[in-house]
Amino acid sequence: MEKTEKIWLDGKVIGWDEANVHILTHTLHYGLSLFEGIRAYQRADGRTHIFRLSDHVRRIYDGAKVATLDMPFTPEEITQACVDMVRINKQSSCYIRPLVFVGDGAMGLYAMTNPTRVAIIVWPWGTYLGEDGLNKGIRAKVSSFTKLHVNANMVKAKIGGQYVNAILAKREVVRSGYDEAILLDAEGYACEASGENLFVVRDGVLRTPPDGAAQLNGITRESVIELAQSLGIPVKEERMTRDFLYIADEIFLTGTAAEITPVRELDNRVIGSGKPGPITKRIQDLFFDIVTGSHDGYHKWLHWV
Ligand code: PMP
Repeated sequence: MEKTEKIWLDGKVIGWDEANVHILTHTLHYGLSLFEGIRAYQRADGRTHIFRLSDHVRRIYDGAKVATLDMPFTPEEITQACVDMVRINKQSSCYIRPLVFVGDGAMGLYAMTNPTRVAIIVWPWGTYLGEDGLNKGIRAKVSSFTKLHVNANMVKAKIGGQYVNAILAKREVVRSGYDEAILLDAEGYACEASGENLFVVRDGVLRTPPDGAAQLNGITRESVIELAQSLGIPVKEERMTRDFLYIADEIFLTGTAAEITPVRELDNRVIGSGKPGPITKRIQDLFFDIVTGSHDGYHKWLHWV
């Protein structure tokens, strides 16, 4: 990864190489943390914005409640720190990674007196599944690992430890030559990819698993639903079986890191024409016009740096 100069740690701006923690940091042992992935984009006029910053910050505080973490900063302070780190590191477009973790002190699981610590790191990061993937589509595979049940995986929170399931799925399929893993829930319904939400088009209708599915309710997902509706594309939130995915006209994945990445093949079956489909393209074009272009709507989503 490409380093930047400064990292925000517990309210202080320090050098990249100084941002270290003790080996007894609780989160390193047991995995209770929250993280966010946010993007800053430069628009056609040269101005930089952070996409849906307030929604990402809200997800941190929702996650803290779910994960029993006491946040030592206010949402306003975290919001300002994200903006400051983009500015201080002189980034025009970058990825922003807030991380909330349990510091050292007591060991054992309870450890409620350990400090909650917060870091904010920014760095340049291209699209997660590659430019080629974004333009031509990726090859996905259903993982043999089941997505954790909704009473095991707290799906409204981006809790670090929950990502072990996603890492195992991702490593399994990438080692077999695919680009991304799609996970099925405990009942066998498609829920999401290892780090992205799932969208399927059939007969002109855009479908995605419902809010209550075993998936993170992605901010890109929510944006795509709103954009599709604005384009007059019918949207249905519903459970989908594995075989329904095979006969889809189009499939795409959404996430802050992966943006809007088409899937051209799933489990060695060509999806639609094997190229990004027309509905995928329309939504992708509109999304990029908003984040990096000069679209004059949706300024409610742009937090200027
Ligand atoms: N699902 C998972 C498991 C993720 O890690 C992410 C990335 N945060 C997403 C979906 C997409 O969420 P968002 O659009 O908010 O980045």
